[in-house]
Amino acid sequence: MPEVKSILLRMRGRVQGVGFRPVVFRLACELGLRGWVRNDASGAEVALAGSEKAIAEFRATLPGRLPAAAEIRSVEEVGEPTGLPAGFEIRISADAGGMRTAGILPDLATCPDCLREILDPNDRRYRYPFANCTHCGPRYSIIERLPYDRDNTTMRGFAMCPACEAEYRDPGNRRFHAQPNACPVCGPSLSWVSANGSVLALRDEALRAAAEALRGGRIVAVKGIGGFHLMVDARDGAAVRRLRERKHRDEKPFAVLFPSMAAIEPVCEGSAAEKKCLESAAAPIVLLKKREGADGLAGEVAPGLPWIGAMVPYTPLHQLLMRELGFPVVATSGNLTDEPICVDNEEAVMRLGGIADFFLAHDRPIARPMDDSVMAVSEGEPILMRRGRGLSPYSLPLPGAPDGWVAAGAQMKSAVAITAGGNAVMSPHIGDLDHEGSVRLWVRALNDLTALHGLTPVAAVADLHPAYASTQGVEELGVPVQRVQHHHAHIAACMAENGLEGPVLGIAWDGTGLGTDGTVWGGEFLVCTRAEFRRAAWLRPFSLIGGDAAAREPRRAALGVLREMGSAHSPPGWSKGELGVLDSMLQEGLNVVRTSSAGRLFDAVASLLGVCQAMSHEGQAAMRLEALAGDMPADPYPFAWQGNAVDWAPMIETMLRFREPVAVASARFHATLVEMMVAVAKREQVKDVCLSGGCFQNRRLLAGGVKRLRAEGFRAWQHREIPPNDAGICLGQLAVAMARTFPRGRIPVSLT
Ligand code: ZN
Ligand code: ZN
Ligand code: FE
Repeated sequence: MPEVKSILLRMRGRVQGVGFRPVVFRLACELGLRGWVRNDASGAEVALAGSEKAIAEFRATLPGRLPAAAEIRSVEEVGEPTGLPAGFEIRISADAGGMRTAGILPDLATCPDCLREILDPNDRRYRYPFANCTHCGPRYSIIERLPYDRDNTTMRGFAMCPACEAEYRDPGNRRFHAQPNACPVCGPSLSWVSANGSVLALRDEALRAAAEALRGGRIVAVKGIGGFHLMVDARDGAAVRRLRERKHRDEKPFAVLFPSMAAIEPVCEGSAAEKKCLESAAAPIVLLKKREGADGLAGEVAPGLPWIGAMVPYTPLHQLLMRELGFPVVATSGNLTDEPICVDNEEAVMRLGGIADFFLAHDRPIARPMDDSVMAVSEGEPILMRRGRGLSPYSLPLPGAPDGWVAAGAQMKSAVAITAGGNAVMSPHIGDLDHEGSVRLWVRALNDLTALHGLTPVAAVADLHPAYASTQGVEELGVPVQRVQHHHAHIAACMAENGLEGPVLGIAWDGTGLGTDGTVWGGEFLVCTRAEFRRAAWLRPFSLIGGDAAAREPRRAALGVLREMGSAHSPPGWSKGELGVLDSMLQEGLNVVRTSSAGRLFDAVASLLGVCQAMSHEGQAAMRLEALAGDMPADPYPFAWQGNAVDWAPMIETMLRFREPVAVASARFHATLVEMMVAVAKREQVKDVCLSGGCFQNRRLLAGGVKRLRAEGFRAWQHREIPPNDAGICLGQLAVAMARTFPRGRIPVSLT
């Protein structure tokens, strides 16, 4: 066959660490092409020499041959390759200097082939907790630098044995260039450690000891992909209570790790969409509805809620442990409440020694901490509550965006983002920055994200709020800082995710965010483009006493709402003396803020209905209301306008007057909020309506709003990939900054 052509192709997308190069290798060999493939910082380069027909066939066939996790987003011809070998070869990666984004892969759940091997007594990886291949295994949690090669991962310290090396070099093998490839001879191994740090057992003996301890109701800290989990028998109420006490966690629901999908069946309901999420390579925690009367779990797991955060094993270690147990365990982040998750073995013994009875640890270091991802499904659509393990890093194309812009995010549920290679790249969930440990983690995440992409920050974007640790953090970088209003950032994130330029009507409902007028916003209707916004309407503001305490005590919101309406009615949960003090504080404006927050309105209603007076964790009151409302059909309460403010006073009056069962009142409250959205949409007459902010984690509110807006002829847009809560703020900040700094025409902001 005459050789008529040679080309060099640059491919971008998810092409590293997913078995991409072996597929290229095999296809090129089949077609008799010479050349090479290698990773570079922005993806992979493929050099091909052969007949024009064979090259064309290669390009046509490759997409259909890709492994499940791989995806080619673009192919570019970048000229003639040099130094072509006699055959086809996989080359080591190009130099990493000045490298940009390469679509770093998230950690992937164990594939069926690896699972089969660890369960096969004749396989050399039988019962090996760290088996992986090009289709599965750790990625982002072990990557220290780009490009993705073993020497740049935390697997660097493990030299492959001859058998692993042979697999790694064999283009026909599933482990061809599988960077974390390992086996019992050469790879990481388990250890069983006491609460004070002494090693009690190793390897399979450690695994069996852990199972024995969990069966006995003990609390075991298990090192997984993104950090340590605290595990305890989820059927054992006393054991779960002990974990709550030691962790200082009152009522916040615990996630449950089930041995298998089949084991979930008797305990929780699950739609096809929910099951698909559970079984996906990301293997997140998925909120499922508890079955009525099911008694498979202790009530202490998720007190007062009809949902269970469920997940299934996603590493060989979890597979083996859970098969050994055969019952569900609580699997919660290894930390004290509100502190970051533990990753290092010694750190774990120090910080968790007072919580865990034992540790099941291993010697593969974790490059960066990651909590489990959390999601729910509403009307078949995913709602992300937390992007962590398996779903990080997340990148959204921002074509033309210059490299090195960093976004600080918000204060709660924080995450950071940077621009790199025409993308906004978002860090995993960091947490609430009210604790020193989380602030350290925030700094670390920002440094990590920039270093990983070989960048130095050139500019920064932060929230308007001067006291946010994230705002202060980027002020220290010594680069220009732009400030973006919190709710504008929420809506810009929703616009960016959905590829909208605006104008849109943004409905940004959350707990709190500083407004441009110095008051606390949170029930906002903003007409906006990416660069600008106009505050078209808002929920009627009321006064909140007591700063931070107000956000934890729905009865304070209830008092504010009643007094705003001129009602002398006493909300539940206060003594006469306390009320006297609070009323005089209100009158004098002492330690009082004005807020239009939808989240606080939820709190007020929860208090007035006697559902919740003081919260052990954020959003608890709203979650209870959502649970009570279920999907019961309900008529809205009346509401009114007061200038540009949507007045909820008629709603509260009616609610208090009728005293219906709380479930009915809660359903009617949700229905009223939906009609408020529709009323503003009708007034503003903007076709596209974006829903964002933490309140839209409430499935009844989200689904109800979307449905009614669509019925009225509006296009309603919601988040699918980015959490609607403050985790999405960093992406919104970048979208606003890009639109302001590089106006239309200079930067193409249409997104794929
Ligand atoms: Zn595998
Ligand atoms: Zn080996
Ligand atoms: Fe917010």
